[in-house]
Amino acid sequence: MRSYDAIVIGAGHNGLAAAVHLATRGWKIAVVEQAAEPGGAVKTREVTLPGFRHDLLAMNLSLFAGSPFFASYKDALFKHGLGLAGASDCFATAFPDGSWLGVSRDLAATTRRIAAQSVRDAESWTSMAEAFAKDAPHILALFASPMPSFALARTLWKAWRARGTTWLGDLARLVLASPRGFLDGHFESDKLKVMMSAWGMHLDFSPDIAGGALFPFLESMANQTFGMVLGRGGADRMIKALTACFTALGGELMLSRAVERIETREGRAGGVRLADGEALEARRAVIANVHPRLVFGKLLAGEPRRCAFDRRIAAFRAGPGTMMIHLALSDLPAWSASEELRRFAYVHLAPSFEAMGAAYAQAMAGLLPREPVLIVGQPTAVDPSRAPPGKHVLWVQVRVLPGVIRGDAAGVITAACWDEAKEAYADRVIALVERYAPGLTARILGRAVLSPLDLERENPNLIGGDSLSGSHHLDQNFIFRPAFGWSRYKTPVRGLYMIGASTWPGAGVGAGSGFMLAKMLAGA
Ligand SMILES: Cc1cc2nc3c(=O)[nH]c(=O)nc-3n(C[C@H](O)[C@H](O)[C@H](O)COP(=O)(O)OP(=O)(O)OC[C@H]3O[C@@H](n4cnc5c(N)ncnc54)[C@H](O)[C@@H]3O)c2cc1C
Repeated sequence: MRSYDAIVIGAGHNGLAAAVHLATRGWKIAVVEQAAEPGGAVKTREVTLPGFRHDLLAMNLSLFAGSPFFASYKDALFKHGLGLAGASDCFATAFPDGSWLGVSRDLAATTRRIAAQSVRDAESWTSMAEAFAKDAPHILALFASPMPSFALARTLWKAWRARGTTWLGDLARLVLASPRGFLDGHFESDKLKVMMSAWGMHLDFSPDIAGGALFPFLESMANQTFGMVLGRGGADRMIKALTACFTALGGELMLSRAVERIETREGRAGGVRLADGEALEARRAVIANVHPRLVFGKLLAGEPRRCAFDRRIAAFRAGPGTMMIHLALSDLPAWSASEELRRFAYVHLAPSFEAMGAAYAQAMAGLLPREPVLIVGQPTAVDPSRAPPGKHVLWVQVRVLPGVIRGDAAGVITAACWDEAKEAYADRVIALVERYAPGLTARILGRAVLSPLDLERENPNLIGGDSLSGSHHLDQNFIFRPAFGWSRYKTPVRGLYMIGASTWPGAGVGAGSGFMLAKMLAGA
């Protein structure tokens, strides 16, 4: 039987980050991936036409570029082929009245646009961005600390020494606030508030959900301060660099090899059995970069002493589903609000608190939203190398959708399964983008649609097409992710650890859980 110090199940970026760190510390590691290519939710493929490279799922690598893992391994990653492309015009919202508002790295450009709405808000934005420059190290350190931990307590203590009690109190309020509550307290322009609030919809926070203010605040300020980062040539540049780094360290990457069972002996995880029957031994750890509901519902045999824990994991809620529409275009959309929008990495079509709230409520009720909330990504505006000269790709993420369809809020689509409904719903999405960018349809050279069901087929961690691998509402975040008492990657099975988007610090490509666990196992 082949034997390793640790087996990582799943070649998501967290699994690969853990594998790189442990291999660097001399551990013999195998990463076992069920799909034919590594990356999980980070893949780039020519899904429309030859020469058009689409980020199939994640596109924005800012979390990775700002992560402690990147800080530690960037030299090795660049040596193994990592390439990044920075966006200076980061995100914007187009409004139905023909206006728009957007955030560029150039603070003067952003504040000029905000001042046209409200001079007072432009001043508040500037003060918020200046304060963020000082606060960012304290806030980002919280996300880089195991939850809970002495490191976390130390980070909070240092923040308290540097910034004081009131600042900590304000941070706690920000963590608990809804987007609307927080934004109403700081700004007066509805358009500015709506533009920032759209970031809550990247997770599962419509404007009135408690706990949803933090992400809009962080993304708005981080984009203003640092810009946005994409992979040069595609997000898969990051995965290719991670795998090259890992295999250069002697690690073994096994593709198209699904783990069917985690083997235990006397209550301890000792290895895995693959779908083709091969058994692999893990002497020190089995690390599952797999959704906990799959780990404890499928990969492990039942165990009566674990049943209370298993029940809690079975109740770990998915977030709403998502859909990806990839377009090969003869030209970027002709945004009627402004030619300038063609430069932006993201254009949000999420025009009001009401529109975001309605789409969210409809999706959660099982209905296809009448008017979807869209994130329109324009990667070739930043990195033209992803398409043939003069041509473009468009990355359209539909936030938020039901995993299982119970009906259509518009009363038009009758299909109740995603395979039948997806093209009709994609037509609704394209028609909506057309309203803001007339002539889009005539520019489409090719189109590929991935429904929530297709996303789950692509990566089983995306249950019901949930891009977050578990809702991020307050009762499933921080010390509650994925279950209270188990937020530090250990599980009730000795030697078995969980990492990935379902664990702290949650979804996104920050490699946080993989790196934090690997440091704990390796002793640094
Ligand atoms: C449509 C979409 C858009 C997104 N956009 C962004 C974005 O722009 N920026 C951002 O920061 N985040 C984004 N995210 C979120 C982010 O991509 C994910 O949170 C992150 O990639 C999750 O990484 P992970 O390491 O937890 O594992 P995953 O990426 O989920 O990978 C886990 C791997 O485990 C494998 N696996 C599962 N079960 C088994 C098994 N039994 N045997 C073997 N292998 C198995 C899977 O095949 C998969 O490859 C997006 C997600 C989606 C779905």
